[in-house]
Amino acid sequence: MVKIGVLGLQGAVREHVRSIEASGAEAVVIKKIEQLNDVDGLVLPGGESTTMRKLIDQYGFMEPLQEFIAAGNPIFGTCAGLILLAKRIQGNDNAHLQALNVTVERNSFGRQRESFEAALNIKGFDEPFTGVFIRAPHIVEAGEGVDVLAEHNGRIVAVQEGSFLGCSFHPELTEDHRIMEYFVEMVKSSLAVKNG
Ligand code: GLN
Repeated sequence: MVKIGVLGLQGAVREHVRSIEASGAEAVVIKKIEQLNDVDGLVLPGGESTTMRKLIDQYGFMEPLQEFIAAGNPIFGTCAGLILLAKRIQGNDNAHLQALNVTVERNSFGRQRESFEAALNIKGFDEPFTGVFIRAPHIVEAGEGVDVLAEHNGRIVAVQEGSFLGCSFHPELTEDHRIMEYFVEMVKSSLAVKNG
């Protein structure tokens, strides 16, 4: 069984654990940097990206996360996790992990729409997926090599770039595990490549 970590410093951690387990993989809540050595993929959950970044710095996670990424391990960022993963953040010169080749804008759906649900057509899925958006960012620009998987009202809300998967919404807050199942498949293929 593949092992997938969920960065457990802040945010919707338990919900991702549930979703990973429902998708046929083992879930590990990552609270210590050493634990990154034991997992084949990582989820960066939703929550509050500035708070999460502070905790990442406080617990010395920045470099280990960068190494984890450089080693080609798959990473799935949801909402605040997408912001952490992005190469560029609109109006902020200090993006966090600077991995996924997109520009994100934080809290970009407006005040009246702090939180809402929308039926999304996701590339490769037969049936729509209900996206739960909570003070969500959107992807303003998808750079070279980035595959757009879903848009909502003309705004990009889900992407993949090689071993990176990112979405604006919270797939773990629904009972629909198709996106997590997709990520589990990404982790399996990356392991197959690693193990030759
Ligand atoms: N607004 C949050 C941020 O900027 C993200 C919200 C979320 O993860 N639900 O980090």
